[in-house]
Amino acid sequence: MEQTAAPDQTEPIAPEPIAPAPAAAALPDESPAAAELDYPIKGPPPGGTTLEVAPGVRWVRMPLPFRLDHINLWLLEDGPGWTVVDTGIGSEKTRQIWRQVFADTLNGRPITRVICTHFHPDHMGLAGWFAREWNVKLWATRMEWLWCRMLCIDESEAMIEGAVRFYARAGMDGAGQEAVRARGNGYRKGVVTPPTSLHAIGAGDVIAIGGRDWHVHIGSGHSPEHACLYCPELDVLISGDQVLPRISPNVSVWASEPEDDPLARFLDSLERLRAVPNSAFVLPSHGLPFRGLHARLDQLAEHHAQHFQEVLDACTDWRSARDISRVMFRPDLDPQQLVFAVGESLAHLHYLVGRGRLTQRMDADGVVRFIRGAT
Ligand SMILES: [Zn+2]
Repeated sequence: MEQTAAPDQTEPIAPEPIAPAPAAAALPDESPAAAELDYPIKGPPPGGTTLEVAPGVRWVRMPLPFRLDHINLWLLEDGPGWTVVDTGIGSEKTRQIWRQVFADTLNGRPITRVICTHFHPDHMGLAGWFAREWNVKLWATRMEWLWCRMLCIDESEAMIEGAVRFYARAGMDGAGQEAVRARGNGYRKGVVTPPTSLHAIGAGDVIAIGGRDWHVHIGSGHSPEHACLYCPELDVLISGDQVLPRISPNVSVWASEPEDDPLARFLDSLERLRAVPNSAFVLPSHGLPFRGLHARLDQLAEHHAQHFQEVLDACTDWRSARDISRVMFRPDLDPQQLVFAVGESLAHLHYLVGRGRLTQRMDADGVVRFIRGAT
């Protein structure tokens, strides 16, 4: 996986109303932590083909027009047809590749169900196309479907201007604010009109697919109600973006909920995923399938612990989220990456405020700044 924005991380597969593209960076591939994971499959299937990674489970890789240049999608044999898990971004190129897969490798069997792990464009972008093309239902959590529906409908000026004000309070300069305004509702550009009805799934549900049970585990923080699917019989976990092998999933505060503390939910989610056995073969949405789930959960928690310490060290004087983004990420971010960097910086700041480690205030220039210690 390529190195991108930060020395370190942030994966803009974002949920965001304003800037949905993947940016994001990686833990260094050569890090000791990364070495703890085992990658039994050395590379993805060529474009337009599938690769069986477990009995009845096929891997499809699709391109993405971002720095994070690919997404992994999964086909599960399901009686007379196939259940697809995640769809790719809503582009004509992705549709063309899917048509090739349908023609070449699905043995004439139809798609019978679409499951999406979460609402981000690279996952839910073609859910509506699948639903209409095959006359099938979308299965997803209510929250993810509602976010997709909402962002596809809301083209209002108020949403855009609210986002501009949000990033201004975080300390983004005029050029950055203008980039946010110019982008508008970026989410909508990567998503075809989603289905107007849903088969809702939730925590603890068991979905029978091709005679095997898949258990729904819910994560949060990267997206509001992210579904992971675990099949005990196969010992396979489809982890979506909740757990990725080499990049740390983007966890950001967004303009839609400016006081949010998403890292608390994300870190809780990592703990709850320990209910899935460490032996599980993990199928992530980006990077290679791996074993070593619990080690990876440890690494992700440690990654954020290191960032918390960096933020505390930087907040010996009053700092904005934009200031902190310069500490946590590379300086040469493009405007879109900057949105993710500021959002992720805010996530760390809000987590520390919530635990009494930082204090915040709004200054006369309208920018919110943070300093070490409780009030
Ligand atoms: Zn995502």
